[in-house]
Amino acid sequence: MPRPLSATVHLDSMRHNLARVRACTPGAKVWGVVKANAYGHGLEHALRGFADADGLALIETEGAVRLRELGWTRPLLLLEGIFEPADTALLDQYGLNSAVHCVEQIAMLEQARFSRPIDVHLKMNTGMNRLGFRPDQFAHAWQRLRAIAAVREITLMTHFANADELEHPRLSVREQVRRFCAGADGIDGPRSLSNSGGVLHQAELAADLSNDWVRPGIMLYGGTPGGNTADHFGLRPTMTLASEIIGIQEIGAGETVGYGSRFEATEPMRIGVVACGYADGYPRHAPHGTPVIVDGVRTRLVGRVSMDMMTVDLSGLAGARVGSKVVLWGAGLPVDEVADAAGTIGYELMCAVAPRVRMMEADLENHG
Ligand SMILES: *Cc1c(COP(=O)(O)O)cnc(C)c1O
Repeated sequence: MPRPLSATVHLDSMRHNLARVRACTPGAKVWGVVKANAYGHGLEHALRGFADADGLALIETEGAVRLRELGWTRPLLLLEGIFEPADTALLDQYGLNSAVHCVEQIAMLEQARFSRPIDVHLKMNTGMNRLGFRPDQFAHAWQRLRAIAAVREITLMTHFANADELEHPRLSVREQVRRFCAGADGIDGPRSLSNSGGVLHQAELAADLSNDWVRPGIMLYGGTPGGNTADHFGLRPTMTLASEIIGIQEIGAGETVGYGSRFEATEPMRIGVVACGYADGYPRHAPHGTPVIVDGVRTRLVGRVSMDMMTVDLSGLAGARVGSKVVLWGAGLPVDEVADAAGTIGYELMCAVAPRVRMMEADLENHG
């Protein structure tokens, strides 16, 4: 029998979350963001779960090639664009859309030979100060792209720094939209601004923000960019990381558990050993008390997470035994809640699920 740890990807929840995106932003086309191996879910699963997306967007050129080889025929967008001149051949061969965020990339496109038209997303830096042209350089960049014969459609794009917190005191979404509109003034073309945070707050932003293409990532996976819970937004978890109890220790008051002996029992208790550790992607810095589900009941992590195992409190779980089912996150335990306890975000936990974790697919709707 293989080690009992697995990550189950729920295709029905992926479809549900994609439908939530469409309900939040009616009329906008949707790039399903599948970078980082579809936030840890695997590109094959994402391809099936997001079969209804208008396009898929990612960072990795090899991932884009793989999606084509797996049969994805709709648009694919490289969110960081290309990295060297030779990549222009990939755009051409696989029909990829590319972000363009710097003059070096424009020069690569100017010097490339294309056998078919190419669509690009021209990126504006509206305050994130990561990638993109500043608003006052944007029109010039656009003109250079427009002059390239092979360039067909130029979508105008920016990225929000604080879409999870609409009234952010340092840089609000509305301020970024204002800068975007100023930089894009007089330039025609589709617009793409919103990530998950922008999509989830579209109703409040309706007066200021519209998109031809939205670019949700985390919400498609049932996580949230922060602020409210997935449940509040009507999103469902798309990944359940589950394992089993593989050992039990009965310890007395004053005994300690695990490396560093950081947890000390104050009374006799049962400790369950779970087959899941930091080499599987579970955060090593998760503290005592981080929620875990055993046999459908919430309990807590105790002691330090080790490479292959972690230890949980089985007090009050008299029926728990070797073989009891454990849920680390997913159905019944939002990844954001575990992330919060561990001082990180759901994005990081899902992306970190290690290659040695068996990936399985579930589809409650038996679609197709
Ligand atoms: C990752 C990414 C997204 C998706 O962000 P979420 O917060 O996961 O919705 C959108 N646009 C760009 C450019 C990205 O890199």
